Amino acid sequence: MPKILSVNAGSSSLKFKLYAMPAETVIISGLVDRIGHSDAVFTYNYQGTHYKKALAVQNHTEAVQLVTDALLASGAVRDKQEIVGIGHRVAHGGREYTQTTKITPVVQQKIADLATISPLHNPVNLLGIEAFEKLLPSASEVAVFDTSFHSTIPPKAYMYALPFEYYAKYGIRRYGFHGQSHQYIYSEVNRRYDQDFSRKIISCHLGNGASVCAIRDGKSVNTSMGFTPLAGLVMGTRSGDVDPNVLPFIAEKENFSAADIRQLLNHQSGLLGISGVSNDVRDVLQAEADGNDRAKLALQIYVHQIQSYIAAYTADLGGLQTLVFTAGVGEHSAPIRERVCAAFGYLGVKIDAEANQDNDLDISAADSRVKVLVIPTNEELVIARETEKVLDS
Ligand code: ADP
Repeated sequence: MPKILSVNAGSSSLKFKLYAMPAETVIISGLVDRIGHSDAVFTYNYQGTHYKKALAVQNHTEAVQLVTDALLASGAVRDKQEIVGIGHRVAHGGREYTQTTKITPVVQQKIADLATISPLHNPVNLLGIEAFEKLLPSASEVAVFDTSFHSTIPPKAYMYALPFEYYAKYGIRRYGFHGQSHQYIYSEVNRRYDQDFSRKIISCHLGNGASVCAIRDGKSVNTSMGFTPLAGLVMGTRSGDVDPNVLPFIAEKENFSAADIRQLLNHQSGLLGISGVSNDVRDVLQAEADGNDRAKLALQIYVHQIQSYIAAYTADLGGLQTLVFTAGVGEHSAPIRERVCAAFGYLGVKIDAEANQDNDLDISAADSRVKVLVIPTNEELVIARETEKVLDS
């Protein structure tokens, strides 16, 4: 069976999963964390055994070396050539890449060029691509873009009402992210349920980063992230939507540069910024329970923003059949799901308190007019599927 490696390279981490396709069996999976530090950690799981080692890992090439060595040493592969394809998560595909794409020097250059609009992610995605190119040269490399699933969003939803020349010159528009996750959610709803539940879906990916996606007949028709992954929902440390005029106002008052503003919006805002407690929903819920008013306010804003997008996207879809929660918060936080759903009695949304508490797959009450689901996301599997599809074509 062909083996496909799914890779998600972040600024200081590298996650991997090796699949036997088309069976979609996970052979080995792991993570190099704290890349660039002397106390990095390499963990992997193979045949029920958990392996963990603390060591210095200077850069992504060293991390990839560790991974390729472990693939052989563990027995997951006998020969590197067994790995026919490597699918890389790439954050931004811009206007060019509306589909998964085989990596060539031209594609690599384009991914590098797109760093102007994705400075935090595209350069590190590229580091992963380059390192695997050196260490597993026989495997075909494929780029699976976060933005591609959203290429079906219509212009009325992706254009900003700025002077048109900025769209023409710089490609400034909504792109959307978390595409692999929302795509996976659609595939799971479609696999498990019939058309009465799979034609009008709202997928809420609530992790450290968070986005909502409206999916009609398997296609993204709107999503809350925008030109960058900063827009939309309140996130752990990201602001989500704010009146754009607030930014020059703060810049002038505080004498901030563009970089200072970016730092403020990406790293000091969101749940952390409002609560002053933490970016982690669990900590903020605990602080709220302890009587912290700012934690309570932060959660109210967080939930309200999710509700606003669900309401708007119900209009985009002309109704709602299935509401899905996924990612860290969506999969594990019963109180957040309960609070979000509480606003939608008028749509006939009703959840079963016990099923919700247990994080069951189907948390809707028997008489709910909308199905409410909790589905653990699986971005790596979408990367492997997409890679297989490109290699077969
Ligand atoms: P990322 O967006 O980095 O991929 P995840 O999807 O794993 O992250 O989500 C991480 C976040 O999920 C954490 O920051 C935390 O806020 C939240 N989380 C995880 N478990 C729980 C839980 N049991 N209750 C509430 N929030 C949780």
